[in-house]
Amino acid sequence: MEKEYILATDNKIDLKSLDIDELKECIKGMNEPAFRAKQLFEWLHVKQAGGYDEMTNIPKSLKEKLARDFSFTSLEVVEVQESHIDETKKFLFALSDGNVIESVFMKYRFGVSVCISSQVGCRMGCKFCASTLDGVVRNLLPSEMLDQIYSIARYTGEKIGRVVVMGSGEPLDNYDNLLRFIKLLTDENGMNLGQRNLTVSTCGIVPNILRLADERLSINLALSLHASNDQKRKELMPIANKYSISEVLDACKAYFEKTGRQLTFEYSLVAGVNDTEEDARELSALLSGLNAVVNLIPVNPIKERDFKPTDRSGAVAFKNKLEKSRINVTIRREMGRDIDGACGQLRRRHLQGN
Ligand code: SAH
Repeated sequence: MEKEYILATDNKIDLKSLDIDELKECIKGMNEPAFRAKQLFEWLHVKQAGGYDEMTNIPKSLKEKLARDFSFTSLEVVEVQESHIDETKKFLFALSDGNVIESVFMKYRFGVSVCISSQVGCRMGCKFCASTLDGVVRNLLPSEMLDQIYSIARYTGEKIGRVVVMGSGEPLDNYDNLLRFIKLLTDENGMNLGQRNLTVSTCGIVPNILRLADERLSINLALSLHASNDQKRKELMPIANKYSISEVLDACKAYFEKTGRQLTFEYSLVAGVNDTEEDARELSALLSGLNAVVNLIPVNPIKERDFKPTDRSGAVAFKNKLEKSRINVTIRREMGRDIDGACGQLRRRHLQGN
């Protein structure tokens, strides 16, 4: 039986989602010399070519065959919002099928990070998040996750040092494509990003955290916790109806034990909802003894909900309380506060035509 490759939205084989072995098989099937696979992989993932015309050492006849039988995904830049406070840039990209997604470029003292989306929309339903308001449209292909990074590298001319899968979508709800994306991004024949420089953030799909732990990768796991007891978490995050905090934390512990990678817990501070002294105390009890960092971020208000961010002094007080229990805490700088910074806001504004 013929091997099944990943198809792009035009139903052709998705060239950029093939790993090097699959590319070799395809090249062999076209009666082309094997070394073409390596050349092609390099054009796709190292030089990150925008099209066949850039591939100067690939013969025209092969390019024509590829163009006929394969899909070459690429993103079109629809809009770039640039922050005037820092160098954050928010990109709105159109996919080949016309769907739009967003990605963020962030420049820190220690280097450049890109935050990518893993799905068009999201079906997790977190109450404070703009990405999920209209549900999920579809999963992104491995190539489309890579394309966000490659396009931003090209547009900015910067070397991308870190990648976080923290944009729209739930990466562990698109598990197979995520895994393939990780393998391609960190392939030594490709862009060769160190696995330690990649972070995947999840709302806590327990079976898939455990699966990821068993892949024995060295990528970082971030868990969106946002509450310190099940009752409050259920009010903010529907996934909490499926998995209790204790089940999620057990899965995170298993992830740490199998990979040795430090865990990050994300906690968006919502005024009067999850930022009280009692919340800080409960959170300290939950996380004490774990090798973890808590990332506090005042919630970014979206107009569809009336959640308000905890103010600066409240956030610092919350941090101090956790630190008393010897928990590592950072208050995340809100990058690009003057642009549509929170997940899914830019896309949503675009879809609503304002
Ligand atoms: N689905 C994944 C990754 C996407 S969101 C996850 O849930 O982790 C990345 C982070 O931003 C998550 O912690 C998410 O809960 C948080 N987030 C989403 N909307 C936000 C908002 N309006 N303000 C603050 N944090 C938000």
